[in-house]
Amino acid sequence: MNKIKVLLIEDDRSISNFITATMDREGYKIMHALNGREGLSLSTSFCPNVILLDLGLPDMDGLDVLQKLRSWSDVPVIIISARTKEQEKVSALDLGADDYIEKPVTVPKLKEVLKKAYGIYCYQKNYSEMTRNLEKAERVYIEKFLRDLYEHPQDEAELLRQILEKNPKFQNVHSVCVTKICEAQCRSVDDYREIIQALTFEMIGSTYLEVFSFYEKENLMLVYFNFGETEFPFYEKIKETKRNLNSENGNFFAGISRIHKEIYALNKAFEEADSALRYGQYLEMEDA
Ligand code: CA
Repeated sequence: MNKIKVLLIEDDRSISNFITATMDREGYKIMHALNGREGLSLSTSFCPNVILLDLGLPDMDGLDVLQKLRSWSDVPVIIISARTKEQEKVSALDLGADDYIEKPVTVPKLKEVLKKAYGIYCYQKNYSEMTRNLEKAERVYIEKFLRDLYEHPQDEAELLRQILEKNPKFQNVHSVCVTKICEAQCRSVDDYREIIQALTFEMIGSTYLEVFSFYEKENLMLVYFNFGETEFPFYEKIKETKRNLNSENGNFFAGISRIHKEIYALNKAFEEADSALRYGQYLEMEDA
């Protein structure tokens, strides 16, 4: 099993030697910083599971170190300090410290807080993993729904009822747009990958836009949902993408639907994307 990594930020050598020796015996892997700046830099390069932080540091106040750290990291932080004022503790906890121990530090106390802090670390890790898995599951579910809807348009009412019940956020769809891309007309797998990348990741500069995809034979359907207040410039963005790819010798054929104002128009959008691709590549025609 990997050792638990602890970053100690403490300028007093006698205290840091004591803590280092104790934790080493207890099986922790420890890294030591003598000031705030060094501590902050090690917090990213060493990736500690727990941080022990002194408040009285030579170059900056420990509370400032904590505040900076919290702008990018959730790592559990235990304050070790000779300051005993209640206000200091409250400020530290307000800034996101997980625990506070007063100096002098004793072995049992140190073991106790480290165990607790590591518990917090594990909880956070499991929690973010669980959230990621849930998001992935939600995506799979929605993509399955879209494929079902495409293949069984006659079941539209029932399928839409299910998706809206499970994901109420779709009640707030501002508009939908479907793009169908023909894989067979792409010159290579790499070109194809690049096109998909450009039409999904690069287009979603907006936080209001979500894209889902599914395969229909050798074609890829991209379904864009706009949750924003204003219209998203689908045509302009796709054209721009196409121009950029053309200038890099990539090219693709896409059928694009009209922009519809509600989720109930999805089937119509699928049909439009289908026929746009079948009858001459909408985008090509529009450019001509
Ligand atoms: Ca100090």
